[in-house]
Amino acid sequence: MTREWVVIGTILVPVVSNLFGLLYSMLVLKTDLFKPFRIQNKAYQDSVFKKRMPLFLFNFILLISVAGISSYLIYDVLETSFIPLWMIGLQVLFAFFIDDIWFYFFHRWLHENKFMLKHVHSIHHRATTPFPLEYLYAHPIEWMLGMIGVVIAFALILVVMPINIYALWLFGMLRNLHEIHIHSDLELPFFSKIPFLSKTKHHDDHHARLKGNYASTFSWMDRIFKTTFKK
Ligand SMILES: [Zn+2]
Ligand SMILES: [Zn+2]
Repeated sequence: MTREWVVIGTILVPVVSNLFGLLYSMLVLKTDLFKPFRIQNKAYQDSVFKKRMPLFLFNFILLISVAGISSYLIYDVLETSFIPLWMIGLQVLFAFFIDDIWFYFFHRWLHENKFMLKHVHSIHHRATTPFPLEYLYAHPIEWMLGMIGVVIAFALILVVMPINIYALWLFGMLRNLHEIHIHSDLELPFFSKIPFLSKTKHHDDHHARLKGNYASTFSWMDRIFKTTFKK
């Protein structure tokens, strides 16, 4: 696979997942299709999507720029051929594992450091009843620092084996889709039954109460450090 195709494929991951997020958001905000599955029974703010749009666009452009530039730069250490599926799965799982540990401590710090909470993380918490694309609504600095977990995860993989491009793409796609889903305020029957993965309720409670439930992909870090939100 040429460098150009690696860059195009890596940019397509956030493009496709965010188009899905856009469609999902429109269905949640503009139709009653998902109403029976809503966790909070509150109405959304008036013209909330319009208000969120400038930062959505800014962060989306930031995301595709980082995806494009970083994939261009790391091309030489990437493995672009197919490898056994279990090896791809292993890299994806490991990346989720490391990224979630980073996210937990980073997110908890954003709450415990009063300056960061007031000037940075409060932007993401303007959403008390989130809708899917609001995963993208955060201070750009929070976005950039949040990505460090992914860098650490894939740098660690690189210590023992080449980073497989399909693992990187699969991780990026699943990570974005999961983030979109946990901001949906919906408890959908199928998704609430996937083992190990944190449920929408976990992050929804975080937005509603501004306390506890700092992990994202899984919820075990909150259980270990006893920060699970209790009613
Ligand atoms: Zn938070
Ligand atoms: Zn959130």
